[in-house]
Amino acid sequence: MRAVIIGGSIGGLFTANMLERAGWDVVVVERTAEQLSARGAGVVTHPELFDDLTIAGVSKQDLAIVHVDRRITFGTDGSKEYVLDFPQGLVAWGELHQYLSKTVRTSQILRGAMLTSFQDTEAGVLVQLADGRSMMADLLIGADGFRSTVRRLLLPSEQIDYAGYAAWRGLVSEDDLDGDVAADLMSCFAFGFPKGEQIVGYPVAKPDAEAAGSARQFNYVWYRPAADMVQLEAMLTDAQGNIHRDGIPPHLLRSDVLAQMRADALRVLSPQLAAAVRATRQPLLQPIYDYAASRFAVGRVALVGDAAVVARPHCGMGVTKAGSDAAALLDALSAHPGDVRAALQLYDEVRRPLAHALMHHAQDLGNTIGDGKSPAPPPIVRKLMQEIAVAPQLHGAN
Ligand SMILES: Cc1cc2nc3c(=O)[nH]c(=O)nc-3n(C[C@H](O)[C@H](O)[C@H](O)COP(=O)(O)OP(=O)(O)OC[C@H]3O[C@@H](n4cnc5c(N)ncnc54)[C@H](O)[C@@H]3O)c2cc1C
Repeated sequence: MRAVIIGGSIGGLFTANMLERAGWDVVVVERTAEQLSARGAGVVTHPELFDDLTIAGVSKQDLAIVHVDRRITFGTDGSKEYVLDFPQGLVAWGELHQYLSKTVRTSQILRGAMLTSFQDTEAGVLVQLADGRSMMADLLIGADGFRSTVRRLLLPSEQIDYAGYAAWRGLVSEDDLDGDVAADLMSCFAFGFPKGEQIVGYPVAKPDAEAAGSARQFNYVWYRPAADMVQLEAMLTDAQGNIHRDGIPPHLLRSDVLAQMRADALRVLSPQLAAAVRATRQPLLQPIYDYAASRFAVGRVALVGDAAVVARPHCGMGVTKAGSDAAALLDALSAHPGDVRAALQLYDEVRRPLAHALMHHAQDLGNTIGDGKSPAPPPIVRKLMQEIAVAPQLHGAN
């Protein structure tokens, strides 16, 4: 049996790995020609992620995980306003991607190849690539992210919704931080809750090649309002006037947008977090969206990861969710050997309610950002410190 997987990021690799272990012939189609492992920032680990990695044959000992034992909210004056004991392991996205790539043993990975269309027929799914190649599959999996082409073709009337804010993400080497700042930020999971905004940050390991000097870097996600599409598009417009609605490549961010962001960091963030933001060489801008597919599978075609559900990053579950989707898909295929359509129906029934519940939980966390008129009150800050980047107990609900 052959599966074609569109997307060679975390969701695609988890799925390729697990299907291959179950005896499937797997082809992965990834539109980016170069290795994705060089990109990305930080990922929070959860017990569920380790369960998924175990199924994929990856031991936690194989990964460079940085451990912190406390969560600290820094006030705008730099004081440690709230401290919570909370041990957690953090890993670099690139490390995880690289490791998963290595475990996909015999699959063919077609890099620089892009799906343009497919046709689900009685004989199988006919997959068409942009370069003219086509292939037949018993199973097609859309692991092609929040702007999924597979999903657009499968569920054409469904749209992603802009949440009204965007996140600045960045990685800064520990070597580029002053000693006091590094001492504060590199030993904890850091929070800041300026009016109408939210920032979280934590240390992760550097990729091997960069391990000269400190072996660690600080990763942060700073959520800021850009209330409507006009404001957002202004930030996504490059110096030539092109609007990058699907995400602006970091090197095309305009200098005035970056300068404003750096000036705002000084104005609204604690001195430690502002220093980290301002020391970042190549910040990324990520608009925040909500989306939950009404179906995770139709016929012989299934969606996994962000193609199926985009949960705002506050709950830090994007990578874990993709791994758990892959594991659920494997379980469903094992329950219906030789009957892909029945298996995918089961996958949809089992996985969709949980992923929808996760999206709603992430929305709730994001909606606490508020209107910016007053700072988050202490009970909300405490709740957020306990729930951000923590796997929730979900009871599937539509
Ligand atoms: C380069 C990169 C860096 C990231 N860094 C982080 C991070 O630091 N922290 C974090 O929490 N999350 C990060 N993410 C997001 C994270 O991977 C996802 O939220 C989550 O893991 C679900 O992954 P996914 O595989 O479903 O989707 P994605 O990770 O979005 O991957 C989708 C993949 O599909 C490919 N693709 C899209 N359309 C087509 C097509 N038509 N044909 C072929 N290929 C296609 C894309 O190139 C991409 O590689 C990153 C994603 C990417 C792509």
